[in-house]
Amino acid sequence: MMALRTVISSKIPMVIILGATGTGKTKLSVELAQKLGTEIISADSMQIYKGLDVVTAKASRREQEMVKHHLLDILEPHNMFTVVDFRNRALKIIDNLTEQGKVPIIVGGTNYYIESIVYKILVEDMNDSEALLWDKSRRKRDLDDYSDDHDEVETKKAAKEPTHETTANPSTSEIIDETENISEKTNSDTCIDGTKNTQAVDKEILKIDVDNEKKFTNEEIHTKLKAIDPVMAARLHPNNRRKVLRSIEVWLKTGRLHSEILAEQKLSEGQLRRPGATVILWLKCEQSIHDERLNNRVDVMLQEGLIQELLDFHAKHNMHRIKDGKPPDYTKGIFQTLGFKEFHDYLMLNEEQKDTEEGKKLLQESIENMKTSTRRYARRQNKMIRGRFLEHPFREVPPIYELDTTDITKWNELVKNKAFHIVESYLNGSPCDYKPIEVIIDEDKKKIDGNSRNYCDVCERLIIGDKTYEIHLKSYKHMKVLKKKKKLEERNKARAEQQNLD
Ligand SMILES: [Zn+2]
Repeated sequence: MMALRTVISSKIPMVIILGATGTGKTKLSVELAQKLGTEIISADSMQIYKGLDVVTAKASRREQEMVKHHLLDILEPHNMFTVVDFRNRALKIIDNLTEQGKVPIIVGGTNYYIESIVYKILVEDMNDSEALLWDKSRRKRDLDDYSDDHDEVETKKAAKEPTHETTANPSTSEIIDETENISEKTNSDTCIDGTKNTQAVDKEILKIDVDNEKKFTNEEIHTKLKAIDPVMAARLHPNNRRKVLRSIEVWLKTGRLHSEILAEQKLSEGQLRRPGATVILWLKCEQSIHDERLNNRVDVMLQEGLIQELLDFHAKHNMHRIKDGKPPDYTKGIFQTLGFKEFHDYLMLNEEQKDTEEGKKLLQESIENMKTSTRRYARRQNKMIRGRFLEHPFREVPPIYELDTTDITKWNELVKNKAFHIVESYLNGSPCDYKPIEVIIDEDKKKIDGNSRNYCDVCERLIIGDKTYEIHLKSYKHMKVLKKKKKLEERNKARAEQQNLD
């Protein structure tokens, strides 16, 4: 029953609208959602906060009345919100909508939010995936002093691009979905792989030892790991007690070798969460026209009360900070939004100062600064879309359709109707008049992991690289799907025979 529902709902595509700021994402999303009678999920790390409606370019009140918007205006200005928080909430809403037969429409402003739902990963270089299997509830308490691996994560955070695309990174303690699946299969079918060296080890005794781990030295614990997972043991120094224990625990809980689980996770990192049911619409605009449009957009924001909005917000949330002698913090929450920093000097002036020539000049400069950063930001966004979704060397590439918004007078023809047609072709399984953008992966990049593209008929998914494909065919996931499909086939056969008898 469960499986059947999954099959049906997987036919409903998840539609993602991407594009740099000011390309008309909101407009298209509302039109599409109205046409399909569905709801919109906002994937924008600034619009998720309450306030600053003008400067963050939120869907207007009217647009929000026309279509239900999720993940908009849900946080207070200083709240922290990680990409994992986003992903967890968004996936729940997506599942909910698909179960109702509705097409989820996800509108991106923040590319890494989108990545977290398109691919099975959190962020790209999540090397510390061992942490994902850490049993927080139990052992963390005992081992708080062994904070060995936290430093690595901190450094990685600091190395990230310092833009407001990077509000938050997942931390060590966050768990990805796949982990839950792994622990579910604790006692069943554990022998597909991973048990070869472990026959001699008594699970019950080991469990008791781990529960009383304080009695053992680092070396003794390391030896215990070596007996079950020599590959993992070779990778870990005995002094790395926390990780050694964790690897043992993985085996106790799942019956599978930690080293193998990690190898598999690495393999699935670039895979689509919903293969065959992910459609990306990329709104683009010719550069010079787009620059012009962005400048106008700032002017429109000014007419809509941008300055007053910033002033009010500044007075409400930043002033008390400044009075306490602390500088305003533009690195947290909604304060990272484009426009705030740019207007800082002006916002700090008192009423009298604002009225002077000097003050007026400062305001003009702030406006120019905002225009410049907006244009720069838009360029960066497009580059990122290209790099993360289209030309990423290890990721499965979803179908991405380009929609040209350069000529606004042809919006219906070139954007709206085209988008309708593409989505409908996925919904009805009917032919599509348009082709997704062809993938141009750099030859050098491809060589890193073979340049072939292999399709696994069993799992119905594309796997890039021969070596990766080879590993995939032996992987637990592949075997599981294979087993399920066989079972289903047999059941259908039996049913057919039964009917023949009747
Ligand atoms: Zn497969």
